[in-house]
Amino acid sequence: MNWYETLESIEPLEGVGLDPRLVAEMEARFGRLEGGRAGRINFYTPTFKAYSTSEIGACGKNAWPAVSITGGECKLQCDHCKAKILEPMIPAPTPEVLWQVVNRQIEAGARGMLLTGGSNLRNEVEYGAFYPTIRRIKDAFPGFRIALHTALVDPDIARRMEDSGIDAAMMDVIGAQDTISQVYHLRRSADDFERSLEYLVSTNLKVVPHIVIGLHYGRMLGEWNALEMVRRHQPDALVLVVVMPFYAPGSRPFATPDANEVGGFFMDAREALPEIPLLLGCARPAGRAKSAIDGYAVMAGLNGIAHPADGMVELAARLGREVRVTPACCSIAIGDEVMALEEDSGLSVDIQAIIERERANRRPASRALGGIKVVAASAEACGRQGKSL
Ligand code: SF4
Repeated sequence: MNWYETLESIEPLEGVGLDPRLVAEMEARFGRLEGGRAGRINFYTPTFKAYSTSEIGACGKNAWPAVSITGGECKLQCDHCKAKILEPMIPAPTPEVLWQVVNRQIEAGARGMLLTGGSNLRNEVEYGAFYPTIRRIKDAFPGFRIALHTALVDPDIARRMEDSGIDAAMMDVIGAQDTISQVYHLRRSADDFERSLEYLVSTNLKVVPHIVIGLHYGRMLGEWNALEMVRRHQPDALVLVVVMPFYAPGSRPFATPDANEVGGFFMDAREALPEIPLLLGCARPAGRAKSAIDGYAVMAGLNGIAHPADGMVELAARLGREVRVTPACCSIAIGDEVMALEEDSGLSVDIQAIIERERANRRPASRALGGIKVVAASAEACGRQGKSL
Protein backbone atom coordinates (compact mmCIF):
# COMPACT_ATOMS: atom_id res chain seq x y z
CA MET A 1 0.00 0.00 0.00
CA ASN A 2 1.50 3.38 -0.89
CA TRP A 3 1.17 6.40 1.40
CA TYR A 4 -1.80 7.89 -0.40
CA GLU A 5 -3.72 4.61 -0.18
CA THR A 6 -2.81 4.50 3.51
CA LEU A 7 -4.19 8.01 3.97
CA GLU A 8 -7.41 7.02 2.21
CA SER A 9 -7.90 4.25 4.76
CA ILE A 10 -7.81 6.65 7.72
CA GLU A 11 -11.30 7.94 8.33
CA PRO A 12 -10.56 11.39 9.83
CA LEU A 13 -8.50 12.24 6.77
CA GLU A 14 -11.45 11.75 4.43
CA GLY A 15 -12.19 14.95 2.55
CA VAL A 16 -9.16 16.76 3.94
CA GLY A 17 -7.81 17.36 0.44
CA LEU A 18 -4.24 16.14 0.69
CA ASP A 19 -2.49 16.49 -2.65
CA PRO A 20 -1.75 13.01 -4.14
CA ARG A 21 1.26 14.32 -6.07
CA LEU A 22 2.79 15.93 -2.98
CA VAL A 23 2.11 12.81 -0.93
CA ALA A 24 3.86 10.64 -3.55
CA GLU A 25 6.77 13.09 -3.65
CA MET A 26 7.05 13.07 0.15
CA GLU A 27 7.01 9.28 0.22
CA ALA A 28 9.90 9.18 -2.25
CA ARG A 29 11.84 11.91 -0.44
CA PHE A 30 11.30 10.36 2.97
CA GLY A 31 12.70 7.10 1.64
CA ARG A 32 15.90 8.88 0.65
CA LEU A 33 16.36 10.72 3.96
CA GLU A 34 19.64 10.35 5.73
CA GLY A 35 20.19 11.08 9.40
CA GLY A 36 18.77 9.53 12.48
CA ARG A 37 15.97 11.89 13.44
CA ALA A 38 13.11 11.06 11.13
CA GLY A 39 11.86 7.76 12.55
CA ARG A 40 10.40 8.86 15.85
CA ILE A 41 7.44 11.08 16.64
CA ASN A 42 6.06 12.29 19.94
CA PHE A 43 2.52 13.63 20.19
CA TYR A 44 1.80 16.22 22.87
CA THR A 45 -1.81 16.60 23.93
CA PRO A 46 -3.81 16.75 27.13
CA THR A 47 -6.21 14.18 25.70
CA PHE A 48 -3.54 11.58 26.46
CA LYS A 49 -3.78 12.53 30.10
CA ALA A 50 -5.81 9.45 30.85
CA TYR A 51 -2.66 7.45 30.17
CA SER A 52 -0.33 9.44 32.36
CA THR A 53 0.82 8.84 35.87
CA SER A 54 0.62 11.38 38.63
CA GLU A 55 4.24 12.27 37.88
CA ILE A 56 3.16 14.05 34.75
CA GLY A 57 2.45 17.65 35.55
CA ALA A 58 -0.94 19.13 34.96
CA CYS A 59 -1.65 20.73 31.68
CA GLY A 60 -0.73 24.27 30.93
CA LYS A 61 -0.31 27.45 32.74
CA ASN A 62 0.24 26.27 36.28
CA ALA A 63 3.22 24.18 35.31
CA TRP A 64 4.62 26.64 32.77
CA PRO A 65 3.40 30.21 33.32
CA ALA A 66 4.32 32.86 30.79
CA VAL A 67 5.70 36.04 32.32
CA SER A 68 6.17 39.39 30.57
CA ILE A 69 8.63 41.98 31.83
CA THR A 70 6.70 44.70 30.00
CA GLY A 71 3.19 43.52 30.85
CA GLY A 72 1.11 44.12 27.73
CA GLU A 73 3.38 46.83 26.33
CA CYS A 74 5.22 46.40 23.05
CA LYS A 75 6.61 49.12 20.82
CA LEU A 76 6.67 47.08 17.62
CA GLN A 77 2.95 46.33 17.23
CA CYS A 78 3.55 43.72 14.52
CA ASP A 79 0.65 43.27 12.13
CA HIS A 80 -0.15 39.69 13.16
CA CYS A 81 -0.01 40.31 16.89
CA LYS A 82 -0.44 43.93 17.98
CA ALA A 83 1.02 42.88 21.35
CA LYS A 84 -2.08 40.79 22.07
CA ILE A 85 0.03 37.71 22.76
CA LEU A 86 1.37 39.46 25.86
CA GLU A 87 -2.00 40.37 27.37
CA PRO A 88 -2.77 37.10 29.18
CA MET A 89 0.76 36.79 30.57
CA ILE A 90 1.72 37.53 34.16
CA PRO A 91 3.26 41.01 34.30
CA ALA A 92 6.61 41.41 36.07
CA PRO A 93 7.62 44.97 35.27
CA THR A 94 10.49 45.17 37.80
CA PRO A 95 13.12 42.67 38.96
CA GLU A 96 11.62 42.62 42.45
CA VAL A 97 8.17 41.82 41.08
CA LEU A 98 9.72 39.06 38.94
CA TRP A 99 11.26 37.53 42.05
CA GLN A 100 7.90 37.64 43.86
CA VAL A 101 6.03 36.24 40.84
CA VAL A 102 8.44 33.32 40.55
CA ASN A 103 8.21 32.52 44.26
CA ARG A 104 4.42 32.56 44.07
CA GLN A 105 4.40 30.41 40.95
CA ILE A 106 6.76 27.85 42.44
CA GLU A 107 4.52 27.62 45.50
CA ALA A 108 1.59 27.03 43.13
CA GLY A 109 3.45 24.16 41.48
CA ALA A 110 5.23 25.76 38.52
CA ARG A 111 8.14 23.79 37.10
CA GLY A 112 9.44 26.59 34.93
CA MET A 113 8.37 29.63 32.97
CA LEU A 114 8.52 31.33 29.64
CA LEU A 115 10.09 34.74 30.24
CA THR A 116 9.41 37.29 27.58
CA GLY A 117 8.33 40.86 27.04
CA GLY A 118 7.40 43.38 24.40
CA SER A 119 10.08 44.69 22.06
CA ASN A 120 11.65 48.08 21.72
CA LEU A 121 11.80 49.56 18.23
CA ARG A 122 14.92 47.48 17.46
CA ASN A 123 13.19 44.19 18.30
CA GLU A 124 15.09 43.79 21.54
CA VAL A 125 13.49 42.87 24.83
CA GLU A 126 15.24 44.99 27.43
CA TYR A 127 16.18 42.41 30.08
CA GLY A 128 19.24 44.38 31.33
CA ALA A 129 18.02 45.10 34.85
CA PHE A 130 16.55 41.60 35.18
CA TYR A 131 19.67 39.46 34.68
CA PRO A 132 20.79 39.56 38.35
CA THR A 133 17.29 38.47 39.39
CA ILE A 134 17.22 35.68 36.82
CA ARG A 135 20.57 34.52 38.23
CA ARG A 136 19.16 34.74 41.74
CA ILE A 137 16.16 32.64 40.71
CA LYS A 138 18.38 29.97 39.14
CA ASP A 139 20.68 29.92 42.18
CA ALA A 140 17.76 29.64 44.61
CA PHE A 141 15.71 27.19 42.51
CA PRO A 142 18.08 25.33 40.18
CA GLY A 143 15.34 22.93 39.09
CA PHE A 144 13.05 25.75 37.96
CA ARG A 145 13.49 25.97 34.19
CA ILE A 146 13.54 29.28 32.38
CA ALA A 147 12.92 29.51 28.64
CA LEU A 148 13.73 33.04 27.51
CA HIS A 149 12.35 34.67 24.40
CA THR A 150 15.51 36.49 23.38
CA ALA A 151 14.42 38.59 20.38
CA LEU A 152 17.49 40.09 18.68
CA VAL A 153 20.78 40.09 20.56
CA ASP A 154 24.38 41.21 20.22
CA PRO A 155 27.34 39.18 21.53
CA ASP A 156 27.31 40.97 24.88
CA ILE A 157 23.59 40.35 25.45
CA ALA A 158 23.97 36.70 24.43
CA ARG A 159 26.72 36.29 27.03
CA ARG A 160 24.65 38.01 29.71
CA MET A 161 21.78 35.63 28.94
CA GLU A 162 24.16 32.70 29.26
CA ASP A 163 25.59 34.02 32.55
CA SER A 164 22.10 34.49 33.96
CA GLY A 165 21.65 30.71 33.90
CA ILE A 166 18.57 30.42 31.65
CA ASP A 167 17.82 26.95 30.34
CA ALA A 168 16.72 27.69 26.78
CA ALA A 169 16.94 30.64 24.40
CA MET A 170 14.14 31.03 21.88
CA MET A 171 13.93 33.48 19.00
CA ASP A 172 11.88 33.86 15.83
CA VAL A 173 14.03 33.69 12.72
CA ILE A 174 12.72 35.82 9.84
CA GLY A 175 14.24 35.41 6.41
CA ALA A 176 12.53 38.08 4.28
CA GLN A 177 13.36 41.76 4.40
CA ASP A 178 9.84 42.72 3.31
CA THR A 179 8.38 40.77 6.23
CA ILE A 180 10.75 42.47 8.66
CA SER A 181 9.86 45.93 7.34
CA GLN A 182 6.16 45.49 6.61
CA VAL A 183 4.85 43.01 9.20
CA TYR A 184 7.26 43.90 12.04
CA HIS A 185 7.67 47.59 11.14
CA LEU A 186 11.33 47.07 11.90
CA ARG A 187 14.45 48.71 10.55
CA ARG A 188 16.69 45.68 10.91
CA SER A 189 17.97 43.27 8.31
CA ALA A 190 17.58 39.51 7.85
CA ASP A 191 21.32 39.39 8.55
CA ASP A 192 20.61 40.79 12.03
CA PHE A 193 18.39 37.78 12.69
CA GLU A 194 21.07 35.41 11.47
CA ARG A 195 23.75 37.13 13.53
CA SER A 196 21.58 36.91 16.63
CA LEU A 197 21.18 33.19 16.07
CA GLU A 198 24.93 32.88 15.56
CA TYR A 199 25.71 34.76 18.81
CA LEU A 200 23.29 32.59 20.79
CA VAL A 201 24.62 29.35 19.30
CA SER A 202 28.18 30.41 20.16
CA THR A 203 27.25 30.32 23.87
CA ASN A 204 26.54 27.19 25.88
CA LEU A 205 22.84 27.95 25.84
CA LYS A 206 20.31 25.51 24.51
CA VAL A 207 19.05 27.43 21.48
CA VAL A 208 15.66 26.74 19.95
CA PRO A 209 14.68 29.09 17.12
CA HIS A 210 11.17 29.26 15.73
CA ILE A 211 10.09 29.81 12.13
CA VAL A 212 6.60 31.26 11.78
CA ILE A 213 5.23 29.88 8.51
CA GLY A 214 3.06 32.33 6.56
CA LEU A 215 4.30 35.34 8.48
CA HIS A 216 4.09 37.53 5.38
CA TYR A 217 0.32 38.08 5.50
CA GLY A 218 -0.28 34.35 5.18
CA ARG A 219 2.09 33.90 2.24
CA MET A 220 5.35 31.98 2.17
CA LEU A 221 8.22 34.36 1.55
CA GLY A 222 11.25 34.22 3.83
CA GLU A 223 10.74 30.71 5.22
CA TRP A 224 13.38 28.99 3.09
CA ASN A 225 15.93 31.69 3.79
CA ALA A 226 15.19 31.36 7.51
CA LEU A 227 15.63 27.60 7.19
CA GLU A 228 18.98 28.13 5.50
CA MET A 229 20.06 30.38 8.40
CA VAL A 230 19.06 27.70 10.88
CA ARG A 231 20.90 25.06 8.86
CA ARG A 232 24.07 27.14 8.88
CA HIS A 233 24.09 27.46 12.67
CA GLN A 234 22.72 24.07 13.79
CA PRO A 235 20.83 25.00 16.98
CA ASP A 236 19.49 22.38 19.42
CA ALA A 237 16.03 22.10 17.86
CA LEU A 238 13.73 23.98 15.51
CA VAL A 239 10.09 24.75 16.26
CA LEU A 240 7.76 25.39 13.32
CA VAL A 241 4.48 27.20 13.84
CA VAL A 242 1.90 28.43 11.34
CA VAL A 243 0.83 32.04 11.68
CA MET A 244 -2.35 32.66 13.66
CA PRO A 245 -3.30 36.19 12.69
CA PHE A 246 -6.12 36.63 15.19
CA TYR A 247 -5.30 40.26 15.67
CA ALA A 248 -4.46 41.34 12.14
CA PRO A 249 -6.15 44.65 11.34
CA GLY A 250 -8.76 44.63 8.59
CA SER A 251 -6.54 46.90 6.51
CA ARG A 252 -3.73 44.29 6.49
CA PRO A 253 -5.55 40.94 6.42
CA PHE A 254 -3.73 37.61 6.54
CA ALA A 255 -4.65 34.68 4.31
CA THR A 256 -4.67 31.15 5.71
CA PRO A 257 -1.38 29.61 4.55
CA ASP A 258 -1.78 26.96 1.88
CA ALA A 259 -1.52 23.55 3.56
CA ASN A 260 0.23 21.98 0.57
CA GLU A 261 2.90 24.68 0.59
CA VAL A 262 3.31 24.22 4.32
CA GLY A 263 3.67 20.45 3.78
CA GLY A 264 6.33 20.99 1.14
CA PHE A 265 8.19 23.25 3.54
CA PHE A 266 8.07 20.59 6.28
CA MET A 267 9.76 18.15 3.90
CA ASP A 268 12.39 20.74 2.94
CA ALA A 269 13.04 21.43 6.63
CA ARG A 270 13.42 17.72 7.39
CA GLU A 271 15.90 17.29 4.55
CA ALA A 272 17.84 20.41 5.54
CA LEU A 273 18.06 19.41 9.20
CA PRO A 274 18.33 15.63 9.36
CA GLU A 275 20.01 15.60 12.77
CA ILE A 276 18.03 18.31 14.61
CA PRO A 277 14.71 17.68 16.36
CA LEU A 278 11.92 19.35 14.40
CA LEU A 279 8.79 20.20 16.33
CA LEU A 280 5.41 21.53 15.25
CA GLY A 281 4.09 23.95 17.87
CA CYS A 282 0.43 24.31 18.70
CA ALA A 283 -0.12 27.52 16.71
CA ARG A 284 -1.71 26.62 13.39
CA PRO A 285 -5.08 27.01 11.68
CA ALA A 286 -8.02 24.86 12.79
CA GLY A 287 -10.32 22.51 10.93
CA ARG A 288 -9.44 20.78 7.69
CA ALA A 289 -6.32 22.91 7.20
CA LYS A 290 -5.03 21.62 10.53
CA SER A 291 -5.71 18.01 9.56
CA ALA A 292 -3.84 18.51 6.29
CA ILE A 293 -0.93 20.33 7.94
CA ASP A 294 -0.61 17.69 10.64
CA GLY A 295 -0.79 14.88 8.10
CA TYR A 296 2.06 16.45 6.16
CA ALA A 297 4.03 16.93 9.39
CA VAL A 298 3.75 13.22 10.16
CA MET A 299 4.69 12.27 6.60
CA ALA A 300 7.66 14.65 6.55
CA GLY A 301 9.10 12.99 9.64
CA LEU A 302 8.77 15.80 12.17
CA ASN A 303 9.65 14.64 15.68
CA GLY A 304 6.99 16.32 17.77
CA ILE A 305 3.47 17.60 17.18
CA ALA A 306 1.52 19.58 19.76
CA HIS A 307 -2.23 18.92 19.84
CA PRO A 308 -2.33 16.57 16.84
CA ALA A 309 -5.47 16.41 14.72
CA ASP A 310 -7.63 13.31 14.90
CA GLY A 311 -6.15 10.35 13.08
CA MET A 312 -2.49 11.34 13.39
CA VAL A 313 -1.52 8.60 15.84
CA GLU A 314 -3.01 6.07 13.44
CA LEU A 315 -1.25 7.64 10.46
CA ALA A 316 2.13 7.59 12.22
CA ALA A 317 1.60 4.00 13.31
CA ARG A 318 0.59 2.92 9.80
CA LEU A 319 3.68 4.61 8.35
CA GLY A 320 5.81 2.54 10.74
CA ARG A 321 7.01 5.41 12.91
CA GLU A 322 8.05 4.91 16.51
CA VAL A 323 5.24 6.68 18.34
CA ARG A 324 5.30 8.15 21.82
CA VAL A 325 2.77 10.33 23.55
CA THR A 326 3.14 13.02 26.17
CA PRO A 327 0.13 14.37 28.04
CA ALA A 328 0.78 18.09 27.87
CA CYS A 329 -0.65 21.33 26.61
CA CYS A 330 1.25 23.53 24.26
CA SER A 331 4.53 22.88 26.01
CA ILE A 332 6.52 22.88 22.78
CA ALA A 333 5.93 26.58 22.44
CA ILE A 334 6.89 27.38 25.99
CA GLY A 335 9.87 25.18 26.31
CA ASP A 336 9.02 22.17 28.44
CA GLU A 337 9.45 19.50 25.81
CA VAL A 338 12.18 21.42 24.07
CA MET A 339 14.21 21.16 27.24
CA ALA A 340 13.35 17.50 27.57
CA LEU A 341 14.79 16.73 24.15
CA GLU A 342 18.00 15.37 25.50
CA GLU A 343 16.03 13.00 27.60
CA ASP A 344 13.98 10.38 25.92
CA SER A 345 10.66 12.00 26.57
CA GLY A 346 7.32 10.42 26.00
CA LEU A 347 5.23 7.69 27.46
CA SER A 348 5.12 4.07 26.62
CA VAL A 349 1.52 3.41 25.72
CA ASP A 350 -0.38 0.97 23.64
CA ILE A 351 -0.79 2.84 20.38
CA GLN A 352 -3.41 0.40 19.14
CA ALA A 353 -5.55 1.13 22.21
CA ILE A 354 -5.27 4.88 21.58
CA ILE A 355 -6.34 4.42 17.99
CA GLU A 356 -9.24 2.23 19.06
CA ARG A 357 -10.31 4.88 21.53
CA GLU A 358 -10.09 7.61 18.90
CA ARG A 359 -12.23 5.51 16.58
CA ALA A 360 -14.74 4.69 19.29
CA ASN A 361 -15.08 8.40 19.99
CA ARG A 362 -15.82 9.04 16.32
CA ARG A 363 -18.35 6.29 15.84
CA PRO A 364 -19.42 3.49 18.18
CA ALA A 365 -18.98 0.61 15.74
CA SER A 366 -15.41 1.07 14.61
CA ARG A 367 -13.80 -1.29 12.19
CA ALA A 368 -10.95 -3.64 13.01
CA LEU A 369 -7.35 -2.51 13.16
CA GLY A 370 -5.71 -5.00 10.87
CA GLY A 371 -2.22 -4.30 9.65
CA ILE A 372 -1.11 -1.57 12.06
CA LYS A 373 2.42 -1.99 13.22
CA VAL A 374 2.40 -1.02 16.87
CA VAL A 375 5.59 0.43 18.29
CA ALA A 376 5.59 0.97 22.02
CA ALA A 377 8.56 2.96 23.22
CA SER A 378 10.26 2.57 26.54
CA ALA A 379 9.71 5.40 28.97
CA GLU A 380 12.54 4.38 31.27
CA ALA A 381 15.08 6.82 29.92
CA CYS A 382 13.06 9.86 30.86
CA GLY A 383 12.36 8.68 34.37
CA ARG A 384 8.65 8.81 33.80
CA GLN A 385 6.67 5.71 34.45
CA GLY A 386 4.49 5.11 31.46
CA LYS A 387 1.33 3.18 32.03
CA SER A 388 0.53 0.71 29.34
CA LEU A 389 -3.10 0.32 28.59
S1 SF4 B 1 7.26 42.11 18.92
FE1 SF4 B 1 6.30 40.22 19.65
S2 SF4 B 1 4.82 40.87 21.25
FE2 SF4 B 1 5.39 42.71 20.06
S3 SF4 B 1 3.75 42.86 18.53
FE3 SF4 B 1 5.49 41.76 17.57
S4 SF4 B 1 5.02 39.56 17.88
FE4 SF4 B 1 3.70 40.75 19.30
